[in-house]
Amino acid sequence: VEGREAVITIADLGEFGLIAAIARDLPGSDDLIIGVGDDAAVLRAPDGRVVATSDLLIEGRHFRREWSSAEDVGHKAAARSLSDVAAMGARPTAVLVSFAGPAETPADWVLAVVRGIAAECAGAGACVAGGDTSSAPFVLLAITGLGDLAGRPPVTRGGAKPGDVVAVTGTLGSAAAGFALLAARGVSGASGADMADLVDAHRRPQPPYREGPRAAELGATAMIDVSDGLLADLGHVAAASGVHIDVLTDRLRSGPLVRDSALSAAATDLGEADWLRWVLTGGDDYALAATFPPAAVPPAGWAVIGAVTAGQGLTVDGREWSGPGGWDHFPAK
Ligand SMILES: [Mg+2]
Repeated sequence: VEGREAVITIADLGEFGLIAAIARDLPGSDDLIIGVGDDAAVLRAPDGRVVATSDLLIEGRHFRREWSSAEDVGHKAAARSLSDVAAMGARPTAVLVSFAGPAETPADWVLAVVRGIAAECAGAGACVAGGDTSSAPFVLLAITGLGDLAGRPPVTRGGAKPGDVVAVTGTLGSAAAGFALLAARGVSGASGADMADLVDAHRRPQPPYREGPRAAELGATAMIDVSDGLLADLGHVAAASGVHIDVLTDRLRSGPLVRDSALSAAATDLGEADWLRWVLTGGDDYALAATFPPAAVPPAGWAVIGAVTAGQGLTVDGREWSGPGGWDHFPAK
C-alpha cells in the first residue's frame, strides 16, 4: 500500500518460513548433537540425569512490548529458565522455545526475541535446541530449560539444616524498583543513569548462572533462585527444609547485593518510605540464595544475610515481617 511501510508478518513467512529464519540465527554447542530442523533435538547428557524446568511468559502479564525491546523479552524469557536450572546446582545446557502470537506479529520482532534468547543462553553456556510455533490471539512464549549436574547431587530447597548460614549472590531489589519506575513514570520518565540501571535490571536481569554449580561444589545444602522475592523464596526453603530462617536487614542495606544509591534515589522519586521493601519482596533479579554449613562460608561473591535455626517459618531481624508489601502468605510461627 502506498505510504505504508511493508511489515513482514509471521503469517507472511508461514510456520516453516519462520522456523527456517529462526534456525539461521542459532549457534550450535558441544551439548547439541541434532538441533532445529528435524523431528526432535538430540542433546548430550554427560551426567546421565537431566535437570528440566518450564516457564510461560504471556504478553501483558510478564512483559510489555512498549516497555521492553524484543531482545529484552528474549533475554528475560531465557533467564527465567536458565536461572531455575542453575538453582539446582546444574550447568544450563539448552532451552526449547515455543512461540505463539497473532498472525500480524512482525516477523522481525519474533526473530529479535529469539536472538535475545540465544544470546542469554550463550552467556550461560547453553544453546537453543528446538521449539515450536503457532498462531494465538496474544503473544505467548514457553521455554523449557535443561541442565547437567556434572556428577553432583541436585541442590534442592529441602536440605537446609539448623546452624547453616544463608547467603545470596547477584542483585536484589533492582528489577522491582525498575518496574515501579516504569509503572509510575513510563519509559521516558525514569531519568538519570542510576534509575536507568534499575529499569535495565527489570528489562534484562543478569542472573549469576555460574554461581549455581559453584555453590553446589562448595557444599550448599539448599538453594533457590530469587524470583518471587527474597522473603517469599527463603520462605519456600524454610518450609521445604523444615527449619526457621532469620534474615538480617543490616546485611542487606549495603554491600554488593544492592544498588543502594540507585534504590534510594528511586524511593525518593516515587515517594517510597524505604527501598528495603524492594530488596525483601521484589522478584525478577534472579539472584541465587543458598544455605551453607558454617565451615563452607562465605564463598567469594556470596554475602551472608541470615541464619538457619531449628523451628519453622521466617523472620526478619528476629521479628515477623510487617512492612509494606505484606508478609501474610508466610506467617512466622
Ligand atoms: Mg526458581
